[in-house]
Amino acid sequence: MRIALLSPRGPLYRHRKGAWKKSLRYAPLTLTTLAALVPEQLNADIMLVDEGIEDIDCGLDADLVGMTVITGSAPRCYELSGRFRSRGVPVVLGGPHVTLMPDEAALHADSIVVGYAEESWPELLRDFGNGCMKPRYVQRPGLELRNLPFPRRDMIPAGRYVTTATFEATRGCINDCDFCVVPTAWGRKPYLKPVEEVVADIRQYGAREVLFLDLNLMADPSHAAALFESLVPLSIRWYGLSTTVIASDEKMTALAARSGCRGLLLGFESLVDESLHDIGKGYVSPGEYLNVVRTLHRHGIAVQGCFVFGMDHDDAGVFMRTARFTVDARIDLPRFAIRTPFPGTPLFRQLSGEGRILTENWELYDCQHVVFRPALMSAEELFDGHLKAWKYAYRYGSIIRRLGAVRYRLGLIAAANLGYRFYCNRIRRFASNGGTA
Ligand code: SF4
Repeated sequence: MRIALLSPRGPLYRHRKGAWKKSLRYAPLTLTTLAALVPEQLNADIMLVDEGIEDIDCGLDADLVGMTVITGSAPRCYELSGRFRSRGVPVVLGGPHVTLMPDEAALHADSIVVGYAEESWPELLRDFGNGCMKPRYVQRPGLELRNLPFPRRDMIPAGRYVTTATFEATRGCINDCDFCVVPTAWGRKPYLKPVEEVVADIRQYGAREVLFLDLNLMADPSHAAALFESLVPLSIRWYGLSTTVIASDEKMTALAARSGCRGLLLGFESLVDESLHDIGKGYVSPGEYLNVVRTLHRHGIAVQGCFVFGMDHDDAGVFMRTARFTVDARIDLPRFAIRTPFPGTPLFRQLSGEGRILTENWELYDCQHVVFRPALMSAEELFDGHLKAWKYAYRYGSIIRRLGAVRYRLGLIAAANLGYRFYCNRIRRFASNGGTA
């Protein structure tokens, strides 16, 4: 059996060429995890293609094509699926967008996988081998992420990524931010991998510098503490994602640092209390953000701080207020996104009910385009304002001021800043339709 596993490109990679194509791309775990789950008895030839780094050959030789779909890549996936199916090659679709919009995805596939694929993907492949593949496979609610094979990182071209040492210890999130696909698609129960299995994976790969892709490493604090303790003897450096709550526990922050944590991505989202309340993040307060950054810096942890523009309380002044804050607070790597109502989320339902959705062209649902009518400004003002924030935060003067606090790995953080500076000077070129629907 020949299986081709494809990750079609999202719009972010549409215009990437040369060094920029590689500059910010780490190896995702989806394809390598799916490859590891293929039952040995099938004796399958497996091909992995990540369109973020290489082209997909529509004439490729396969008995079955599987694609992972995010909302922004859905139109591209459907187009590719149509081409393969017209050649008689059956196509399976899975991933976040399929889990959010199964009925839509089913129109473009011979079979779909809804939810996490750990059990259903091997089942689907056995059925396919026996000539009885069903049109839909749905994750069992009691799924546990234990005793699973390690991702097949050996099957991807290491030199094409900034790093292939990507790992995960958890999936899902306990929070319920209204724009986020995670609670809508997978609920609010975190799925925890046994710590010893995570550590064994890192050991067998020989990784010295690790990137955890977990959406919220702190989803279960006791699991996080056990993980961090187990990482200490490995003497690695690691980077990951967390909520700001990590900094409210000095002991946890110190333990994370001792275990090798050198950088965290934090979703600050907004400096406006009412906005945080509206999106379901009323448990944090912008008044604490400066302390969050200082606490992490004190422990040698760099901060990638993410902010979202386009909340209903955002006025024309929000862009520069936020951009200045990132500089004053010395956030190592600020990121600005446009509020995006992913289909199926409470935010989409709310804006749709208010007649404010401007397009259902999913390709524009990439946090870089305005796809809804903002409350206190026009769509163009929102796009231009977010661009202004990017440019201010990545002026050379701002970079120098922000990085004044960096004590660890200045070279790496400075390089990441230059990468983002390059990106933000080209946002307008990357955006379709001038950034609005
Ligand atoms: S904290 Fe992050 S991952 Fe969790 S629901 Fe909010 S945006 Fe999603």
